[in-house]
Amino acid sequence: MARPNKRSPSDWLIGNYQKLFRPRQVAARHRARLDLFGFTDGTQPVAAMDAPAYKKSCQRKCRQIARFAANTMKRSRWIETENPGGSQAAGGTVAMLDLDRFDGFDDYLKQANKASGKHISRNIRKAGGDGYATGFFTFDEYQKDVRQIQGSKVFRSGGFVAWSLFPSKRAYPRSTATKNGVLETTCPHHWHLCWGVFLPRPGRRLGGRQVDSELVGFITLWRSGNTARTMEFMGHGDHLSRGIVDLMAVDLLKWMFDGGDGLTDGLRYFGYGEIEHGAQSLADWKRRHLFEPHLLSSAGGPT
Ligand SMILES: [Zn+2]
Repeated sequence: MARPNKRSPSDWLIGNYQKLFRPRQVAARHRARLDLFGFTDGTQPVAAMDAPAYKKSCQRKCRQIARFAANTMKRSRWIETENPGGSQAAGGTVAMLDLDRFDGFDDYLKQANKASGKHISRNIRKAGGDGYATGFFTFDEYQKDVRQIQGSKVFRSGGFVAWSLFPSKRAYPRSTATKNGVLETTCPHHWHLCWGVFLPRPGRRLGGRQVDSELVGFITLWRSGNTARTMEFMGHGDHLSRGIVDLMAVDLLKWMFDGGDGLTDGLRYFGYGEIEHGAQSLADWKRRHLFEPHLLSSAGGPT
């Protein structure tokens, strides 16, 4: 039984990594990663990200999302003339996809295929042909599969997965997704969604419920203002070669470009960590999917 808010060795490891190693890693990799994305220092696109504060009208979960967004902005690189938190030298460079650069989903896919030598469409076809399908899910229902996915690989392109050895003891928040997969929210500024890739398993029961499927990969997505960012993004090690990661990402983007059931109004950026984070293969994946390093600026941003 998961106990809420109980710290595990993973929390300790992740916390110390953030404090001790991350700034060194960022500094060591910064220039090479900018080269990989085809930019030099100072020539990256500039993003006017916003981070709406927690308000009285917010839901309980909003507090955590708002705080995280503000912290991310504080520790990221800004344009030369703006430097909140003094993070210019050590701060990471956010990797984001600017949705406004594209004329809808088809244009995005066309450009991404151009950047990847049609690699992305091949992967999507492969995954679809094997029966994998994507959609929203609730952690309550698939918690067991989530733990299996987290434990399926000790090292990933993002680095060492502490949870694979020391499973998180924290209970995941109860998702607010509705029956048709869209979360109910009264806050237009903050939300969280769980997006997954599934294999059909007719008759399968999980936690006393009939689910008829197995979750083999997932993305948790937090929105704050004009930016939605991945919090966790991983596939089960046994299924990674089947193209599930590309299928998950591209289907989620399609949902965003196609109106996101009304939840993506005013959304401009899809963020996925920093360009300096993880192995070069992860940075390469982001480049192929058209994420770009962005400097932050408060100028011209929505209020
Ligand atoms: Zn809110």
